[in-house]
Amino acid sequence: MICKKCCKKAIIEYPYPMCDQHFRDYYLRTIQKTIEKYNMFNKEDKILVAVSGGKDSSALVYALYELGYEFEGLYINLEIPNYSEHSENAVKELFKLIDYRINIIRVSDYNIRVSPIYKRPICSVCGAIKRYLMNRFAYENGFTVLATAHNLVDEAAFFLMNMNSGQIQYLIKQEPVLPKENKFVKKVKPLYFITERENMVYSVINKLPVYYGECPNSSGNPQSKWKQILYKIESENPGFIRNFINSMLKLKKYINYPEKKGEIFCCKYCGYPTGSRSRICSFCRLQKYFNNSKKA
Ligand SMILES: [Zn+2]
Ligand SMILES: [Zn+2]
Repeated sequence: MICKKCCKKAIIEYPYPMCDQHFRDYYLRTIQKTIEKYNMFNKEDKILVAVSGGKDSSALVYALYELGYEFEGLYINLEIPNYSEHSENAVKELFKLIDYRINIIRVSDYNIRVSPIYKRPICSVCGAIKRYLMNRFAYENGFTVLATAHNLVDEAAFFLMNMNSGQIQYLIKQEPVLPKENKFVKKVKPLYFITERENMVYSVINKLPVYYGECPNSSGNPQSKWKQILYKIESENPGFIRNFINSMLKLKKYINYPEKKGEIFCCKYCGYPTGSRSRICSFCRLQKYFNNSKKA
């Protein structure tokens, strides 16, 4: 297979055959177009990029660097044995390569740990901790934008999962941009139209220091099942995942969301917003749980 633009050997087939150089152009152009179309940020913004050491967030960091944006990174060390130390090393190497500042925090600094509690699966506890800490770090340090590496396949899997469970209220969160609100910093997803495979290829051609090991807890992640289903459809209908998300975005325009969203309260421990009537956010609830279990 040869590149559609220059007849060199193609390294990727979809959306059309491209050589490494033309793929790189396509990849950066797609991200830049997404940033502009959704008004994600401009060069005056103080941008924080959440990184994990994996291919998606490493690709995001390097792409924003190549596009000329200035930003800082945030790595949350989740202290998962045989995993977190490798990913932290990959992140440090990446930021050394581009010579940008990386901020590192550890979950134990907040008296918390990633483990299953009550009937909550471990990935849901982990997700809640990450979402809370990313936002709090960004807010407390004056960042105007928080960028995450959610990609096209993450969004499609999340959509399928919620259609299956009937939790259609989460559809409101499936936007490339979530505006600033209360103590929630503006959140953006520059890789919204980029596939996992494209992030992988971009990481490889740029020889990025990526930790390819899988999180030991990931087998319990409900989203991975939906990703497998999506890949199966994609293999028989190339381009399906991209079309699926574009259709979802079109469909969303016809939905009338209720004017009044659920009431928001202020957490009595940390002061951050929570939807819980008890006025204790889920992060502080986790903190309390681990403090009590320590004493017991
Ligand atoms: Zn080419
Ligand atoms: Zn709280």
